[in-house]
Amino acid sequence: MTAVEHLQNLLRLNTSNPPGNEILAAEYLANVLSQAGYETQVIESAPGRGNVVARYRGDGSLRPLLLYNHLDVVPVERSQWTRDPFGGDIVDGYIWGRGALDMKNVVTQQLMVMLQLAAERPHLRRDVIFAGCADEEVGGQFGLKYLATAHRDLVDAEMGLSETGAFPLYVNGRTVYPVQCGEKGNCRLMLRAVAAPGHGASPNYNNYAIRFLAIAIERLTRTSLPIHITPTLRNALTQLAPVLGMDVAALTDPARLEGLLPTIPYPFLPDLIRNVTRNSAAPTLLRAGVKINVVPSVAEVELDGRLLPGQTKDDLIAEIRALIGDDLPVDIIHLPEFDTPALERASEGPLWEALVRNLRKHDPKAVVIPILLAGGTDAKHLEPIGVHTYGFSPMHYPPDFDWRGLVHGHNERLPVVALDWGIHVLYDTVMELCG
Ligand SMILES: [Zn+2]
Repeated sequence: MTAVEHLQNLLRLNTSNPPGNEILAAEYLANVLSQAGYETQVIESAPGRGNVVARYRGDGSLRPLLLYNHLDVVPVERSQWTRDPFGGDIVDGYIWGRGALDMKNVVTQQLMVMLQLAAERPHLRRDVIFAGCADEEVGGQFGLKYLATAHRDLVDAEMGLSETGAFPLYVNGRTVYPVQCGEKGNCRLMLRAVAAPGHGASPNYNNYAIRFLAIAIERLTRTSLPIHITPTLRNALTQLAPVLGMDVAALTDPARLEGLLPTIPYPFLPDLIRNVTRNSAAPTLLRAGVKINVVPSVAEVELDGRLLPGQTKDDLIAEIRALIGDDLPVDIIHLPEFDTPALERASEGPLWEALVRNLRKHDPKAVVIPILLAGGTDAKHLEPIGVHTYGFSPMHYPPDFDWRGLVHGHNERLPVVALDWGIHVLYDTVMELCG
């Protein structure tokens, strides 16, 4: 069966999370891998929450390589789709379906690499592990988080490759491939304004919690938090500068970077960079008041805080305090139960070089830049057990394909031509890393 046919079959299995029901995909993959000769394990972390693991055996002289992916997809608004989101239709060169970009395309690529290994039986120095996991879209509790704690031996590896990386951005005749080598951490905070209670018929706005909170939010969101250039960003900007015809020293100068970003004439690139130049603290949940005629004495807003690697909660709190000032009765409170650390792997050394070399081998115009992700992935469950993860899922999107609105959006679809190229890149990369 071809890669495209496997992808179609996977797209036809509804693994929308919630509820997940990833067992459908886990059993499909287990069946395909078993037929190729693999011993496979389907692990149900809860009813219907299927994970699947298979292992190609190397000689064990190096620690394994983990190809990991997630089998769940985000829900769809069916009425907004022009085709069946679980139909796997191919129309005008596109495969349609929820998960075509995130990430059953990558599941298929990793599956095809495993099938090719089984067919060619190369001698490898590492095991290659395939792990299809549940629940990434809701945090991984039933997927990789579960495997990493309850079945650590199954996913223990030196290096893990997964989603969000090695897709092309076409810039000045070159192809820029961002490869994810870290992500921001979570640091949830709350602003709490405290003032006098009172009657709604006679408000005193000089001592009014909602007003104080509103002023604090306005000050927080009027400008941005300060720029910090991480080693990853410095490496990326250093490589991008000549492609963009810009001065490296200017682009890597925190004082000048912000002003230069709007002059980059490729819309996605400034966003990709801007999101990882600073910590962030987005106000998202507001709370105040219990009754229309009672002036509340407390008003609160929760901040979705994200930390760059190397930054602490105290750094972020100090940055927020500098913006909102000391003249308001507003406290900044840390909500530690949601903390996750930021991750940053070295974008140098032999493992990284192997990723770069194989992209260049298959695209001579490739410029490979390391990038951090502003959000989070399953990588956060693997780093604590010592697996170094990279977002490396090579996909050759053509220049006119704008995938950005389609991931988690309506009418998700993948250009058929994107798939096979990436399988060759990934197979060659696996061979180099393990051979
Ligand atoms: Zn994903």
